[in-house]
Amino acid sequence: MDIKKMYINGSWTESASGKTRESINPATGEVIATVTEGDAADVRRAVQAAKESFYQTREWRDMDSQARGDMLLKIADAMDAARDELAYLDAVDMGKPLREAECDVDDAIHNFRYYSSLIKAPYGGVYDVNTGFGEMHSYTVHEPVGVCGLITPWNYPLLMGVWKLAPALAAGNSVVYKPSSNCVLSSVKLFEIFDRVGMPKGSCNLVLGPGGVIGNELAENEDVDMVTFTGSTEVGQSIMRAAAGNVKKIGLELGGKSPNVIFADADLEGAVEWAMIGIFLNQGAICSAGSRIIIEESIKDQFVARLAERAKAITIGNPLENPDMGALVSEAHMKRVLDYIRSGIDEGATLVCGGERYTEGDCAKGYYVRPTIFDNCTDDMTIVKEEIFGPVVTIQTFRTEEEAVSMANNTIYGLAGAVFTTDGARALRVIKELRAGITWINCYNPCFNEAPWGGYKRSGIGRELGVYGLEEYQEVKQININLHPGVVGWYEH
Ligand code: NAD
Repeated sequence: MDIKKMYINGSWTESASGKTRESINPATGEVIATVTEGDAADVRRAVQAAKESFYQTREWRDMDSQARGDMLLKIADAMDAARDELAYLDAVDMGKPLREAECDVDDAIHNFRYYSSLIKAPYGGVYDVNTGFGEMHSYTVHEPVGVCGLITPWNYPLLMGVWKLAPALAAGNSVVYKPSSNCVLSSVKLFEIFDRVGMPKGSCNLVLGPGGVIGNELAENEDVDMVTFTGSTEVGQSIMRAAAGNVKKIGLELGGKSPNVIFADADLEGAVEWAMIGIFLNQGAICSAGSRIIIEESIKDQFVARLAERAKAITIGNPLENPDMGALVSEAHMKRVLDYIRSGIDEGATLVCGGERYTEGDCAKGYYVRPTIFDNCTDDMTIVKEEIFGPVVTIQTFRTEEEAVSMANNTIYGLAGAVFTTDGARALRVIKELRAGITWINCYNPCFNEAPWGGYKRSGIGRELGVYGLEEYQEVKQININLHPGVVGWYEH
């Protein structure tokens, strides 16, 4: 088995220490790749390469934005040609059904195309200003930030990387990218594409290894101008601390515990189907997952019975056979999810269905958990308060709109949320009150490259996707022009 390497300064390289680790297919427990294991020394090498590329050779940064956009299109085309392989790699590395991995690759391709067109249409503001200093024009330009460290989680191995790489590169930055050590295979493939289409040396670097070591070095290194991170709130807090040394720009996309609020007048069947997508897609490993269903008391029993019926019918199996649900990413993560389920039972929630590992047939070798529903939950339970990041949903009831809003907002997180009702005015009232960055009315989880993605409260800082996602990777410069050059006496203005 060849060793999956890092990509630094335009070359494929093993770690300085020579260490490697095995990559496991969570559906079978089998080793699928040997991956080089970098450390802080490798990150420093990659940061130096990015620094040289940005501040000295400047090829990528100074490339005409039309040409830079064209390069992103070449990347998108090459990804399109490698679509099946990229999807296969995410399915065997992470455990998600192949069909879902294919959708992720399509989104990732669209993302490169989207940022290609956005960077070709530069914009800025021009202001006529009349200050005490006389008539002036003031205008703004967008410039790249510099060397950007990008750190991502395992739940969408390719897509979470592309959400950062495409806008960061479009803006002209040089990047050092660190995917989750759980799932690196599609990232290695993506960098093969970068290499093949001719990305300038040092403009894009890939480092592989444990987050606590190489992620931390990226956040701390004072030659890194910006660090953007997607992952847990706890690690996001440590990134903030580590980034303080040189007051790096930061972008944080963190965890969630999002409410899915359902009123009695909602289309019940529709609400059930969207609730399924809200919590069981991607084995529940979605930051925006609708993990807290908050439902009007009068329809709760009917809703839970139907949701349980649908959850029990979910097919579970090897991701390559396209079941409804695949495997959890690792044995450790499966145990974590099962521990949460145990805490739900211990703290008095009613287990409606699931609640255990799934071991039928070949699945006995993998890390599968049955879709799990807990009824009669209360705000003080661990399963209601903490992000589980697995196929586990809690049910709570309300009687009034005010109570529903108050329960929905009773969380440290503020990533996402939804409301289901046929009363349009109520839908808008409730959504407006939700302290969350991504919201849905009568649907759950759709996500678009064009619309900004990010959280309130402890779910993060900044936005990805859309125009906002590009601006995260840009500095804004104000340029002021005196329209009447000449000497202005100090006291005359
Ligand atoms: P994680 O926080 O454990 O790891 C995320 C990344 O950070 C990985 O690459 C990891 O290696 C690295 N890392 C770990 N410790 C580090 C440290 N001390 N310093 C720097 N980097 C470090 O998260 P995970 O388990 O990979 O992913 C799950 C989390 O990601 C969930 O909380 C989920 O909500 C969140 N997430 C958020 C979004 C969003 O858009 N808000 C999207 C996807 C996932």
